[in-house]
Amino acid sequence: MIATEKTIEEKGWDVGRIREDFPVLGQTVNGKPLVYLDNAASAQVPRIVIERGAKYLREEHSNIHRGVHYLSQRATSAYEGAREKVKRFINAREARECVFVRGVTEGVNLVMHGYGRKLVGEGDEIVVSEMEHHSNLVPWQMLCEEKGARLRVLPMNDAGELILDEFDALLNERTKLVCVGHVSNSLGTINPVKEIVARAHKQGVPVLVDGAQGAPHLKVDVQDLDCDFYAISGHKMFAPTGSGVLYGKAELLEKMNPFLGGGSMIRTVTFERSTYAAIPDKFEAGTPAIASAIGLGAAIDYLNSIDREAAHAHERELLRYATEKLSGIEGVRIIGTAREKASVLGFVIDEVHPHDVGTILDQEGIAIRAGHHCAQPVMQHFGVPATARASFAFYNTKEEVERLAAAVEKVIEVFA
Ligand code: PMP
Repeated sequence: MIATEKTIEEKGWDVGRIREDFPVLGQTVNGKPLVYLDNAASAQVPRIVIERGAKYLREEHSNIHRGVHYLSQRATSAYEGAREKVKRFINAREARECVFVRGVTEGVNLVMHGYGRKLVGEGDEIVVSEMEHHSNLVPWQMLCEEKGARLRVLPMNDAGELILDEFDALLNERTKLVCVGHVSNSLGTINPVKEIVARAHKQGVPVLVDGAQGAPHLKVDVQDLDCDFYAISGHKMFAPTGSGVLYGKAELLEKMNPFLGGGSMIRTVTFERSTYAAIPDKFEAGTPAIASAIGLGAAIDYLNSIDREAAHAHERELLRYATEKLSGIEGVRIIGTAREKASVLGFVIDEVHPHDVGTILDQEGIAIRAGHHCAQPVMQHFGVPATARASFAFYNTKEEVERLAAAVEKVIEVFA
């Protein structure tokens, strides 16, 4: 048999098999088989995660930590077991460095309140990049406003790559934190975070990495990156909403103030004063999203059960193929042409608003996202109000990319 492109690809990655793990993908939308290309917003959930959540609700549902009874112990051990899985997944030194949060937004706000409000003062500086998601930008603006500190911005070029030559000049003795995304959700750029961390550390500045789009598509090793904080959203990596992790180096988490006050985060309480629990409990006030955290653990089990190298190679091939297909269509402009990209393809069509693109594609059963993607400064850089964004996961197929391209051609015909 002649080895076609398809058979070679299928040797490494059996996408048809993988799709069977994701029940949601089997449905039709507007009479057409669903093509789900909105993975950067939320990825779909495999059967074992759904089943793990159902098992918790059916057999283990109970509040954690405080109970001596059987169900509480089971729930606690599943919840803490999920923390161990996270620790191994990102290669943290210790499980207590992994704080469960609802997602990156909460993780960044935790650092803003716990680290920023304690350690940033008037005249100090925070560095963000020009391509940050609002959740890694607005909290820092709020902090700067409150403290009289200054926000400095690492710019990007017109391909959507950070201009690292300008980075060192932004750092000085007043710099208290550098905040940068691992992968841009609007442009797909993979940022050289290891290099950024090394340069910032030379000046003694800690670095927070927004890993919302990094963790689903890249192997994350926080010890290798040597970042000080790394934030993850579970719903972008095949887990339920309400799950996420803020990784922080233990010595930093220990010196930070708590974020939310309440039950479970204290050691002693009197009317005069309260003392706080050790990390990570200090940052997990109240009843956490137990089922979601256990679901994140199950999603990590799932990711460990597949060939992640092959999955990432497949995603890279989908991005390459989609870029080739869409850039070949007259009137389409790709936004975000960095050399190193992951799984995100932003584009605009001459004379057509991205929302209209999204609506017409939906009629074809294709789910993409249209808007500013919570990155308005990126839109301002490229002089567009919004973009259409297709984002890929390892369960997408080349046929789906072809359907995307055909639907984009249809949009152009409708508006011609
Ligand atoms: N950062 C990036 C790069 C993102 O893509 C997102 C989600 N769109 C976030 C942060 C915020 O994540 P969440 O809504 O899960 O808090």
